[in-house]
Amino acid sequence: MRQPLIAGNWKMNGTKASAEALLSGVIAGATAIAKAEIAVCPPFPFLSLGEQMLAGSTVRLGAQTVSTEPSGAYTGEVSAAMLAEFGCRYVICGHSERREYYGETDEIVAKKLSACLAQGLTPILCVGESLQQREQGQTETVIAGQIDGIVSRIGIDAFSRIEIAYEPIWAIGTGMTATPEQAQAVHVFIRQRIAGDSQAIAGKIRILYGGSMKAANARDLLSQPDIDGGLIGGASLVADDFLAICQAG
Ligand code: 13P
Repeated sequence: MRQPLIAGNWKMNGTKASAEALLSGVIAGATAIAKAEIAVCPPFPFLSLGEQMLAGSTVRLGAQTVSTEPSGAYTGEVSAAMLAEFGCRYVICGHSERREYYGETDEIVAKKLSACLAQGLTPILCVGESLQQREQGQTETVIAGQIDGIVSRIGIDAFSRIEIAYEPIWAIGTGMTATPEQAQAVHVFIRQRIAGDSQAIAGKIRILYGGSMKAANARDLLSQPDIDGGLIGGASLVADDFLAICQAG
């Protein structure tokens, strides 16, 4: 019922040449993948290339962040309207790296979500706990706070046009994947939290898992009933590795 979404977050990696090669590889392989929806989120300078190359393909384009503001004197920022104009469908919002290195708070993330929705873009809202928070038994409190911090600002109805990605910080880029059971438990928690406000939205919303997902563990993770896809970092930089995950979706 919920079509899996496998999205590649390239982060700040690649050259024009490697981006072109990676896009070609993903486009070619995607034709053999029937079930999962596939998206790639390259760095901003490669979006135009992505738009051109993905035309006519089923692979969708996304960005890794967006400005909270619609336009104006915000040096270095990129607006949601610009992303829409360059063919983006998705925008990753509130990734833990943005929260940690660039001070993105729930308030900022909520503004980014609103900016995306106003332009018809679909945000992928990232949530997740640190290792210390998990070890202290704080996982559910942290996740609930991150979800509630958005719902209280933009309302539950907005979640009918939002994807969520559960990315435990301790699993990102570490090779330490959450077990399928650990991930499933948090996904259920997130869905129940949404269900507290809207059963209908909770049933429909896609909750992706991110954090050291790779071909070897993708099937086990994606076979969990509440894991509706993946947000892939490192493994999205090699076309065959990414496509193997898409195949598992
Ligand atoms: P890795 O797949 O490299 O662990 O990164 C996950 C991630 O942060 C995706 O947004």
